[in-house]
Amino acid sequence: MTALVTGGASGIGREVAARLRDAGHDVVVWDLSGGDIVCDVSDPDAVSTAMERTVREHGVPTRVVTCAGIGASGMLLKQSLAEWERVLAVNLTGTWLTLRAGAQAMVDAGVSGSMIAVSSISGTVADRDMGAYCVSKAGVDMLVKVAAVEWGGYGIRVNAVGPGVTRTPMLPNPEALPGWVEGMSERTALGGLGAASDVAGAIVGVLELHWVTGQIVHADGGLALHSPIDAYGQLQRVMAQKRDEQR
Ligand code: NAD
Repeated sequence: MTALVTGGASGIGREVAARLRDAGHDVVVWDLSGGDIVCDVSDPDAVSTAMERTVREHGVPTRVVTCAGIGASGMLLKQSLAEWERVLAVNLTGTWLTLRAGAQAMVDAGVSGSMIAVSSISGTVADRDMGAYCVSKAGVDMLVKVAAVEWGGYGIRVNAVGPGVTRTPMLPNPEALPGWVEGMSERTALGGLGAASDVAGAIVGVLELHWVTGQIVHADGGLALHSPIDAYGQLQRVMAQKRDEQR
């Protein structure tokens, strides 16, 4: 079976490609460099050309994983338009172009398949200083839902996996900011930061869930589970104590 992994030359995508290869797939990696096919996923012509070559040389990919993405920070008041557009072009439009090309190839060949878009917990929770990134990943989450309902009739499943904070080249040195890793680890139910292999395991798992489509699965160790309401029980106890004192 042919599998396509975008962004598969690094980080999470590299782990996904390795796991799919181990499972016996003929894996084709698209990336800016270091993959099998050079492709900027934000360029519609490049995506079309890369899909034509993939189908010609390897057959129709019936497993598609879109890991290509860029991190970005910036407060909304300071964000440049160029940076905003670049983040959306790669993370959201690039994901759509890839999924669309993959689905079209499957529909044309009359075969079914499964696709995973790599999103982020930042598509669900609001991170300050990461507005464009959050919006791009929220778009990915909705994209997989719409794609799932539109392409389900062709036997094509489409899901998203949203990593939490994961040690990859996108996050080269999180220890640089003292206390950052410790704070993150403390707020993660399973403790610590994720590894690319943790997220890749979730991706290849969801890829093969045959009755699951249009879902967003967070592979984050429970980082995004916390309610923003702090210590409500403690507040209740203080108020009860005050009431007792006033009696
Ligand atoms: P990474 O930087 O190691 O890998 C990203 C890959 O995407 C690289 O190989 C890069 O060359 C490729 N890429 C970037 N722009 C591209 C483009 N225009 N066309 C084709 N390829 C392109 O980072 P990663 O952490 O492995 O990220 C993989 C995915 O996981 C991304 O979508 C990222 O947003 C998401 N994610 C990562 C984290 C994290 O903490 N690392 C958290 C949440 C989500």
